[in-house]
Amino acid sequence: MVLEPIPRRRLSSEVAKDVESGVRFRYRSIRTPRARAILQVQHQISRACRRFLDSKGFMEVLAPIIGPVTDPGIRGAGTVVVPFYGKMYVLMTSMILYKQMAMASYPRVYSFSPNVRLEPSASKSTGRHLAEFYQLDLEMANTSCDEVMALGDRLLYEAINSVHKECKTQLEQLGRTLHLPPRHLPRITFTEALKILADEGFDLDPKAEIPWIAEHHLSLFFNTPFWITDYPYTSRGFFYLVDDDRPGVVRSMDLLLPEGYGEISSGGEREYTVEGVTRRMRETGDDPQKYGWYIDMLEEGIPPSAGFGIGMERLTRYICGIPHIWECSPFPKVPGIP
Ligand code: AMP
Ligand code: MG
Repeated sequence: MVLEPIPRRRLSSEVAKDVESGVRFRYRSIRTPRARAILQVQHQISRACRRFLDSKGFMEVLAPIIGPVTDPGIRGAGTVVVPFYGKMYVLMTSMILYKQMAMASYPRVYSFSPNVRLEPSASKSTGRHLAEFYQLDLEMANTSCDEVMALGDRLLYEAINSVHKECKTQLEQLGRTLHLPPRHLPRITFTEALKILADEGFDLDPKAEIPWIAEHHLSLFFNTPFWITDYPYTSRGFFYLVDDDRPGVVRSMDLLLPEGYGEISSGGEREYTVEGVTRRMRETGDDPQKYGWYIDMLEEGIPPSAGFGIGMERLTRYICGIPHIWECSPFPKVPGIP
């Protein structure tokens, strides 16, 4: 389902200036009808996602904010370290390790989880990076990538459809024409994605994640959201499960938005045995000693699981058709803008 490229939208210097002043003077920008419309749409998205996941037997859990460990695989971004009763804790960069803990309690959970990542200052102008953002993070025990992607198809459909139905005035105000996605989103493999990009002149490392600029380009070729599957194990964190039948590939996927909006979700099946995780940690260069409770928990045993996290501000940005993501956070923190 690859289509002709859609013309690329650029972030104008005016928009870049708006980011600075919009963020610094948020108490003013938040008063505008435009800001209100975006936040109302965001509220509708959250409601629709909650309603859908609740109907599928999920339980919402409150997400951690800080802890002794968090997701290390955040590609070039820094982690915030804070003193905590004589120990150094970190702000959550994602709740992956904690979702695996939750699996020991209940087989389907979701959270609206806060993440802080010190992205490089240059990502201020990508239009899609915040330094503080929320993921709708979900996890299911004893399931596969296929099932999780099918759930993602429905979730996205429900979110977009409910905004389409309930937020007509807001969409009109934002000048956004929203198309409903198909019920089953197209899927391409990582290798196929690289092939499309190679034809476009991108010479990419087949062992690394696709850089955001190439992803942006790829997403211009599609007119619906789409999945990329079968990432190389070298491009993913230690918690992704290596495919037994295809060594070198992890059972993982990303969901990309069309029109240049790019990645909105990453997920996959998880390594859940202590042997599997420590072997993967040796490959990724992570030290098992630093993961205290996580390794102890794996030794006691947790169920296999799969899941994904969707960036809420990125989803809002796409649904509302907003050039820069800062407008999709009520209290935006943008990389490089203290
Ligand atoms: P990751 O763990 O890097 O795959 O991130 C999972 C999801 O969180 C991404 O697909 C995005 O939707 C969202 N996300 C990651 N980093 C950022 C960021 N800096 N700003 C906004 N959303 C982000
Ligand atoms: Mg990702």
